[in-house]
Amino acid sequence: MRALDTANIILATHNVGKLDEFRELVQPYGLTITSAADHDLPEPVEDGTTFEENAYIKAWAAASATGKVALSDDSGLCVAALDGDPGIYTADWAEKPDGSGRDFQYAMEKVEKALNDVGLKSEDEASREGYFCAVLCLCWPDGHAEYFRGEAHGHLVWPPRGDSGFGYDPVFRPQGHTRTFGEMTATEKHSWKPGEEGLSHRARAFGKLATALLEGRK
Ligand code: IMP
Repeated sequence: MRALDTANIILATHNVGKLDEFRELVQPYGLTITSAADHDLPEPVEDGTTFEENAYIKAWAAASATGKVALSDDSGLCVAALDGDPGIYTADWAEKPDGSGRDFQYAMEKVEKALNDVGLKSEDEASREGYFCAVLCLCWPDGHAEYFRGEAHGHLVWPPRGDSGFGYDPVFRPQGHTRTFGEMTATEKHSWKPGEEGLSHRARAFGKLATALLEGRK
């Protein structure tokens, strides 16, 4: 694994929710994070077929454009009864047909309708299994990349509960918990400490990255 030889990295995202989570996660390590939006970088076309491929597309776009090490996150919600959908298309499911942009209430309703269409009503919560996946890609300006994958398994609830977090948080109840991600504090959902596994997919992926590359820097 290549060592991280800089304290300044670009987070290749325009998603403010992700940026906030990462800023908190790297804070103990003295890393400074700027975002793709801070550098006026365009959002690349994510035409990969896996989370890893899309994570690389985003991180490489930022690293090659700026000459700095870039970190990207490609994440999504995979629902077992929907053959893994929305998966890498999780953000696309939030695009409204009228072209007015992303709307996650609309996206959550779309997942709910798809579950109902395969016969899984909200009272069948035990059968409505799914997981969030996050793949972090750290990419250097020479194209070298390292990957870290985290998953958070749980169940899809309906109706949505809680107004914390972002995206699909209000319909996802992680395994072993009674509350949805939308009902948890930011710290509870995505914090990570050495020796812990973490709860959210992003915290788990970050834990792998931190263990491999950051713990030795403290
Ligand atoms: P990406 O920006 O292409 O990685 O798209 C990820 C999609 O998954 C976005 O629509 C997010 O809202 C959703 N997503 C990723 N992580 C989470 C999470 O922690 N909670 C809720 N939704 C998430």
